[in-house]
Amino acid sequence: MSMLARVRADLVAFKPYASARRAGFDARIRLDANESPWDDDDPMRINRYPAPQPDELRERLGALYRVASERLWIGRGSDEAIDLLLRAFCRAEHDNVVALAPSFGMYRIGAQLQGVEYRALELAAADDFAFDPDRLLALTDSNTKLVIVCSPNNPTGTLYHDDALPRLAERLAGRALLVIDEAYIEFAGVASAIPLIEQHDNAVVLRTLSKAHGLAGARVGALIASPEIVDLVGRIAAPYPLPTPSVVAALGALQPEALARSVHRVAAAIGERERVASGLRRLPDVRRVWPSAGNFLLVRFADAHSAFLRAFAAGVLVRDVSSQAGLADCLRISIGRPDDNDALFGALRGASS
Ligand SMILES: *Cc1c(COP(=O)(O)O)cnc(C)c1O
Repeated sequence: MSMLARVRADLVAFKPYASARRAGFDARIRLDANESPWDDDDPMRINRYPAPQPDELRERLGALYRVASERLWIGRGSDEAIDLLLRAFCRAEHDNVVALAPSFGMYRIGAQLQGVEYRALELAAADDFAFDPDRLLALTDSNTKLVIVCSPNNPTGTLYHDDALPRLAERLAGRALLVIDEAYIEFAGVASAIPLIEQHDNAVVLRTLSKAHGLAGARVGALIASPEIVDLVGRIAAPYPLPTPSVVAALGALQPEALARSVHRVAAAIGERERVASGLRRLPDVRRVWPSAGNFLLVRFADAHSAFLRAFAAGVLVRDVSSQAGLADCLRISIGRPDDNDALFGALRGASS
């Protein structure tokens, strides 16, 4: 069964807003979109509406992710892709979404906004947040539309890229999408799950330029899936999801020199991650530093609140995740530049000795 059978019935034949740029026509003089005609010699031509999915950006992102452009939809960060999948597939007060806990907070928010039940498989810190695909599947039923696996997982740093992913895709075939959020995959040193979409029409991979490519401010992310799902998401998305300055920034980040610099910075972040992890493990009030495949570490302290305040007093802000299920006394610490990380050590060491 095609996954389109699981889309909200009222959206299967949904006709998108017929924006001027979507029609695909071009001419020397454009009087079709009520724009200002004055471009003031701006090379960005920001007086004009952008293409819904600019060709050059699609080609370059397709090359980066090694997928054909009809399998790629580019949006306002992967956050937008999550929101659109929820809206396309889930009927309010009827369907449900299954994910891990702890995991990325936006899944629950998105589900809540859509009026969709959110079911989370609670992972145990004592078990290093390992998950059993059978227990995840046991949370699904005939109204489950999305199963979201974030790998590496935020905020735990756990990597779930193994045989479990193709097995889950297989067992959810025709029933639910398996959404694999790879926001941090560049820091994991393993192959992407993108090739899964070739064999499983229910597999969806989310990627972003926000983390490894240093473009969080531009808001550019990608959904990679079957051409049918890409077409559907493109139809329900806002007419112009990609602001021109963001497209320019993304094209800049996809130039060969910029890509080489990102690779270098990712390697540096991985090196720093291991240095910071071993440094933290030597601090007297650190109880546990979990292995991380991301650009952050999950750390349990004897007293997370006091560690947070010590860092903050020294001008270092970290993320208090201690209110999440199973994460009592935990902080999530992003990997900074070497001197940022040294400042963190100074703050934590200084006051605890
Ligand atoms: C940061 C993050 C994203 C958000 O990516 P954007 O492309 O910036 O919207 C998605 N998923 C996870 C798990 C993240 O941590």
